Formats: sequence, structure tokens, C-alpha cells
Amino acid sequence: MEISSLYKIYLEHPLVDTDTRKISKNSIFFALKGDNFNGNKFAEQALKLGASYAIVDEKEYKTHKNIILVDNVLSTLQKLANYHRKQLNIPVIALTGSNGKTTTKELINCVLSKKFNTLATNGNFNNHIGVPLTLLRITKNHEIAIIEMGANHQKEIEFLSSICEPDFGYITNFGKAHLEGFGGVEGVIKGKSELYTFLKENDKTAFVNPDDKIQIDKTKNIKTIFFNLEKLSLLEVNPFVKLSYKNEEIQSQLIGKYNYSNIIAAITIGNHFDVSTNDIKSAIESYIPKNNRSQIIKTEHNKIILDAYNANPSSMKVALESFALLKEKPKAIILGDMFELGNDSIQEHKNIIDLATSLTFDKCFFVGENFLKTESNINLYKTFEELKESLEKDSLYNYSILVKGSRGMQLERLLEVIN
Ligand code: ATP
Ligand code: MG
Repeated sequence: MEISSLYKIYLEHPLVDTDTRKISKNSIFFALKGDNFNGNKFAEQALKLGASYAIVDEKEYKTHKNIILVDNVLSTLQKLANYHRKQLNIPVIALTGSNGKTTTKELINCVLSKKFNTLATNGNFNNHIGVPLTLLRITKNHEIAIIEMGANHQKEIEFLSSICEPDFGYITNFGKAHLEGFGGVEGVIKGKSELYTFLKENDKTAFVNPDDKIQIDKTKNIKTIFFNLEKLSLLEVNPFVKLSYKNEEIQSQLIGKYNYSNIIAAITIGNHFDVSTNDIKSAIESYIPKNNRSQIIKTEHNKIILDAYNANPSSMKVALESFALLKEKPKAIILGDMFELGNDSIQEHKNIIDLATSLTFDKCFFVGENFLKTESNINLYKTFEELKESLEKDSLYNYSILVKGSRGMQLERLLEVIN
């Protein structure tokens, strides 16, 4: 079926589903495939559950007039999303970068929604499926869209950009994340910069942080909007970021100095779209991070900075440096393995141990097989259970504790151990 014909169906049935456990009435069900499932098998069930149409790519499952057979369900979904995007006449802002995409996206959304009916990526739905599904949630009532694009290898951002055709782009930073898939830091810079290439080739605009040399360097030949650093300054991080913008104090609920750049990106974008300074201030001040991203949790005896959502060498470094600046005492750190670092893994874990020990925290705990492989002469625990046992024997009392590790380490489990 031609995409234009499918688009007519979509206009009458604008809800798109991919999971039969959550079917909406009158939706179109896209029968995606994964390593362990074949959505084709659920097409009939989707119709029974209320979907109006199902899109499949295996002939044997075309068993009903409202089941549409295509060559490839995933690429049909992506093409439909791009077709829809082309019909939209609203600004689309795309974000990528190594760290801080979701936080920045949510801040931008808070700021812009003061003035516009916005549509932003839900949570972390930022890949080759999440981006098209997000685009297909945009309706004619939306006035602006903010799309998060994630990647762990080359050409991914190029592809996602070609689907969402952003009018504006922002790259939060270039860091040591997904080194394995990208092929080192140079690979990260190249891969993320695919967004700049799209903007350049299509005469679109990049938001640029003038403090980031790589951003400056890579956007030389593109239309740019720079952060106005003359009107912005970081006042304190104690532990929450406080800043001033056009002589107004803004007290955020975000911890860690690294969040300053995320906040000023949102301010710059709000300012570009003429959101008032007052609205920008109240949007930033009311934003509270979710999902274990730099949250402060007070237990009975301790204060925990829970940053267990993810970790890589760059975000670990800034988290440690920021925690070291806090005046409170005593301080402990509990760090878990960082994943996807390929050949750099042992060295990067060693670097983090060196940095952590040089910052003289009162207690340091490191957990995971990657930390163990460094064979360092410090508190190393191979498994979470070993760490847990040790913390149960020798419990922390009246500490401020930074907890950070890759998602797979699930260090939020420590909340059951530390009280
Ligand atoms: P993902 O790759 O999972 O989509 P993300 O880029 O969306 O991650 P966030 O979810 O916003 O990033 O933040 C995850 C963690 O990254 C935070 O808890 C914090 O530790 C770190 N982080 C956030 N912003 C920055 C930044 N500007 N620089 C370095 N580290 C950051
Ligand atoms: Mg994210």
C-alpha cells in the first residue's frame, strides 16, 4: 500500500499501537518484530481488542480485510511518521547528545508549555521506534514539538533526523557514552554531529552553548542561536543549581553542576520562542527530575543523591566533581559499573577510581565486575549482594551518599539497604 493511502487511514485513526496489552479503541496496530516476539501473530487479537486496522509483513497473518500487508512493518511506521511530519507546519526541535537529553527535553517542554500546546517525547522513547511513534502523536492542535533522539552507533542520528526533519537542533554534549558502539570519543562526536549535518543541509538552526568548544567548532557553517552567557550566571550548587537570568534568581530543583547547561539550554530555547522571563523562571523552578535521575532521597539516617538511572565516564566524572563541592560531611560514594565501554572499559574504571580517591570522600564503595577487573587496592565488591552484606554489617549513619551506576546495575536497590 502507498504511504499516502495509509496516511488517509491514519488521519481517521490517529492512535497508533504496537502492544496488544495496551490497545486503544479505533487505533492502528503496527505488528513490529523483536528478537523474542513477532507482532504479526497478534494482529487478529489487536482487532478483537478494538484496533480498527493492523499492519503486518507476513502473508499468512493477512486474515482480515482490515489487516494490511506491507513489505516491512517497521519501515512503514517510519515512513508514515515522516509523511505526517511533512504535513505539519509547526517548529520541531530535536535533541541528542551523550548526557542530559531527557532532562533537557523535559525542561524545554516545561518552559515552552507555558505558552504553547507542546508535544514532547514520552520518557526515554528516543530510538528508531520511539521517534516515529512520538511524531505520530502530534495532532493539528499542537503548536511545537520536542523530540529526543538517542543513538549508540553511527548513522543512527542521521536516520532519525531524516524521519523527524527538525527545524531546530541541540546537542547537549559529546561525552564518553556508548564508546563501544560509536568507536571511541571521536566516533561519538562524528555520530552525534549527524544532527548538525542535517541542519546544515536543510538550512535549519542549531542552538549552541558557547562554552562547548566542540559545539562551536562543529556548527561553524550552520545557522546558530548562541546561549546568551552575558545574561546568565551560575550562582551556586548547594546541592541544587541556582542561577541568575536577566538579573532574576532561579532556584532549580536539579542537583549537580552539570545540570546548569541543561537549564540554560531550556532558557535559551524559551527565550527564542518568546516565553516571558517570569514563565521561564517558574517553569524551571517547578521541574522535579524523575526516574532515579539525580534525585535526593532522605532516609531515616542518611541523605542519598540517587543517580542510578545511568552512568558513563563523562557523567560519572561530573557527578563526582559536583558531589565533592558539597560542604556537608561526612560523605560516601557508592559507584556501580559503567557498561558499553568496549576496550576502554578497564582504563575508564581505573580513571574513575583515581578521581574518586583523589577527591577524598570519607567512604568509597565500588561494585561490579568491571570495577573488580581494575584490581585496585580499595573497597571492591563483585556483586550487589556482596556490597549489600557489607553495608548491612557496617551501616552508614548521618552520611550524604552519592549513588551512581549504569542502568543494569540497578543501584536503586540500595534504598532497601541504607536507612
Ligand atoms: P539516555 O541516554 O538514557 O537517554 P539522557 O541523555 O537522556 O540519557 P538524562 O536521562 O537526562 O540523560 O540524564 C541521565 C544522567 O546523566 C543524569 O542522572 C546525570 O547523571 C547525567 N547528566 C545529565 N545531564 C548531564 C550533562 N549535561 N553532563 C553530564 N552528565 C549529565
Ligand atoms: Mg534519555
